[in-house]
Amino acid sequence: MSDNASLNVIGSESEINHLKPHVNPNDIFWRSPRRDPFWQRIPAWADVDEDTFKEFKWQEKNAITTPDKLMKAIQDLASSEFIEDVRTGFAKAPMAVRISPYLLGLIDWENPYEDPIRRQFLPVGSQLESDHPMLTLDSLHEQSDSPVPGLTHRYPDKALFLALDTCPVYCRFCTRSYAVGLNTEEVEKISLKASMERWSLIFKYIESRPELEDIVISGGDAYRLKAKQILEIGHKLLDIPHVRRFRFATKGLAIQPMKILSDHEWVDALTEISDRGRKEHKEVCIHTHFNTAAEVTGFSQDACNLLFERGIKVRNQTVLQHGVNDTNETMFALSKSISYINVQPYYVYVHDLVQGTEDLRTTVASAARLEKHLRGATAGFNTPMFVVDAPGGGGKRDAHSYEYYDRETGVSVYTAPSVKADAFFAYYDPLRSLSSDVQEAWHDEKKRTEMLGDAIENARKNHL
Ligand SMILES: *Cc1c(COP(=O)(O)O)cnc(C)c1O
Ligand code: SF4
Repeated sequence: MSDNASLNVIGSESEINHLKPHVNPNDIFWRSPRRDPFWQRIPAWADVDEDTFKEFKWQEKNAITTPDKLMKAIQDLASSEFIEDVRTGFAKAPMAVRISPYLLGLIDWENPYEDPIRRQFLPVGSQLESDHPMLTLDSLHEQSDSPVPGLTHRYPDKALFLALDTCPVYCRFCTRSYAVGLNTEEVEKISLKASMERWSLIFKYIESRPELEDIVISGGDAYRLKAKQILEIGHKLLDIPHVRRFRFATKGLAIQPMKILSDHEWVDALTEISDRGRKEHKEVCIHTHFNTAAEVTGFSQDACNLLFERGIKVRNQTVLQHGVNDTNETMFALSKSISYINVQPYYVYVHDLVQGTEDLRTTVASAARLEKHLRGATAGFNTPMFVVDAPGGGGKRDAHSYEYYDRETGVSVYTAPSVKADAFFAYYDPLRSLSSDVQEAWHDEKKRTEMLGDAIENARKNHL
């Protein structure tokens, strides 16, 4: 039989039985991330060409750090009511303000109130909700699990190294608002500067603890480390025999991918560390932070392709936010869009209890629903785990693994046997999701104590 004949037999269309309906190619939108000059809709940048926009230095220089700068950039794209609303939002927000031109250009200015990127970075006074009464500033107790300033050692074999306290943008939902960014009218921050002097104590601690195999280098944001500092930290950690893997945590890829494409010194430094790690059989990777498919563009694709070619693994950690990524469709779009550019969805965090962000929080039930819809829709290794970072220092728990969950009071209770044995950790759904009676009860100290006590009691009875 000739090759042609056998091909004919194998390829005969009539023998294919299409059990599944054909997919509309338009539904596979993640394969062609946008490459239009979207930033040119911003009046101030109407004449900025792609080469200029692609320069990380231009992005840095043109970052928006005050409501006045915002107004200058967008001019009459948004109404004066909207700008006033943002001004009120900024005055009440405990975060410093910083947003990259890249992100500003991606906001849909036809409908800024509903836009998922606007919601994450530009607070508006009219949408703010008052904080849950159980909120404290360092709700994750990162400071009380710190043997030396800037290092959190909570889990047995891994530690969180806060290398610096600045970021290329400031996110409203930031868990570390106790440290990150400048002081604001609302909050006085603790200071974690990038300096070898502060870090040397941290390295000493890591060296003295042979059980530590895994280090998260975060902050702040590793994007803000200089190339020289990436080399210093990277080589120092690789020198420690028991450190087997570390990750540089940066939101950079999601908010300013231009740095990967134009800051060659920085990417080369990262590559040098990754290459040395690989030779020594240690993993050096990046953990990034895309929250919606709207943040994925041709720039992100090019940047992620470059890192992929350099053999640097990228994983993603998302913060679940109301009106941003809490529908089945938005979560699916995010997971497919980032998987397509080789960024692996790793965690979706139920929003921590953070000052001034009650409008962004969602319920534990919504995390469970999203997970149910996503699992099975794509590869298991591209399906993130939905976690609650248990307030009080319990660490990350699978959102489904609560010992008890009262939908009426919104209290879910978790245990963390290998982190803090015998302790119970409670998370609180946003007040908005509760009946008005229960909302009122949370503002009453006696009823508050009762609701929490009941939930813990039930968890004690139920738990496996
Ligand atoms: C998240 C976190 C880590 C890393 O945990 P993984 O589950 O491995 O991603 C380490 N230390 C602290 C304090 C953390 O919050
Ligand atoms: S980039 Fe990360 S550390 Fe910085 S403000 Fe955003 S969430 Fe916080």
